[in-house]
Amino acid sequence: MMSLISLLDILKTVWHIYKAFRQASIILQGGEIVAHTITDDCTNCAACEDSCPVNSISEQGDKRVIDADTCIDCGACVDTCPVNAIHA
Ligand code: SF4
Ligand code: SF4
Repeated sequence: MMSLISLLDILKTVWHIYKAFRQASIILQGGEIVAHTITDDCTNCAACEDSCPVNSISEQGDKRVIDADTCIDCGACVDTCPVNAIHA
């Protein structure tokens, strides 16, 4: 019987493949992948950090920030923010 951890690993892999295709599609259509950013409204609650599949969110001073070099623009963090501080 497949364990829950194996199932989560499979879902994570499928998620990454989907994102890779999405990024390729954006680039092929002449678009640009733009990292999400966190505004000064951030209350540093940390709710967004676990939602990021590529660990792009970290604490800096009294708020969270997104590393533009590693953010894949998936948008997963946006809905986790209670004060709507994350934008594309
Ligand atoms: S948009 Fe996706 S990759 Fe970028 S910081 Fe948010 S969760 Fe991470
Ligand atoms: S969820 Fe929103 S308020 Fe909380 S740390 Fe992330 S950006 Fe800041």
